[in-house]
Amino acid sequence: MKGIKRELNNTIKHVAQRENFATDAYTLGYLQALLDVKAALDGKSPAAGMWMKSWDKEISALKKIINDSDNIVFFGGAGVSTESGIPDFRSVDGLYNQEYDYPPEVILSSSFFREKTAEFYKFYRNKMIIDGIKPNKAHHALAKLEADGKLRAVITQNIDGLHQAAGSKNVLELHGSVARNFCTVCRKPHSLDTILASKVPHCECGGLVKPDVVLYEERLNQSLLQQAADYISRADVVIIGGTSLSVYPAAGLIYYYTGDKLVMINNSETTFDERVNLMIRTSIGKALEKAVL
Ligand SMILES: [Zn+2]
Repeated sequence: MKGIKRELNNTIKHVAQRENFATDAYTLGYLQALLDVKAALDGKSPAAGMWMKSWDKEISALKKIINDSDNIVFFGGAGVSTESGIPDFRSVDGLYNQEYDYPPEVILSSSFFREKTAEFYKFYRNKMIIDGIKPNKAHHALAKLEADGKLRAVITQNIDGLHQAAGSKNVLELHGSVARNFCTVCRKPHSLDTILASKVPHCECGGLVKPDVVLYEERLNQSLLQQAADYISRADVVIIGGTSLSVYPAAGLIYYYTGDKLVMINNSETTFDERVNLMIRTSIGKALEKAVL
């Protein structure tokens, strides 16, 4: 018995440490099952087994909501992109600290960009520009909903341009995009190649080139925020995915929704859970694939 428990504990530790386990519903289901066995061996009743659930009933409810509406708005965060292999730098802070002298929040700030531009770009090129990334099922499902005349807008906190790569047209990028860059002096647009070509990219006019992404210490684009608020307040259905809604002011946008079809597809709990009408606690890619594709 003691040997079984020790082996079980080692397995749980191993699974929990496995890379990406937080975004993989199957692994989490496995982990939950192991924890249930452990609880049973300890003489306790098993945990709720949330990750063992198939969510089929909820996916059917989502299908119906989608079928009945032509005014859906999607609001997404980092979790939408992690399934394409883009790390959420907020959750892997420790990893970067081993390599860089500052945490990502400091490096990706406006003052750091001005004062230590070369170091900013070293981090930016290494961690923010990821080669060969492709849209996943979530991006494709949302592009299809827009093409089918059901979805009015994608509002995203991501800066990777994957929604457009999947074919989405109306994408409100609250935090900007790595695909756009401009000269801080003459405002001329520059391609990503300019950013990749030199340690500190400059324009022909001599001005410093800056990515069109919202850095820490910078304000979000106010007219874009207003547009997002308008879409959400007029929406029949709002689907939130891959975000813990912890980043303000973007997260405050959800308060503009007054309807009764607020759908949340998220792997973890959020402070908004009580307001949600339909909760699907699984991977956003898998849920949208089942409901849409
Ligand atoms: Zn210039």
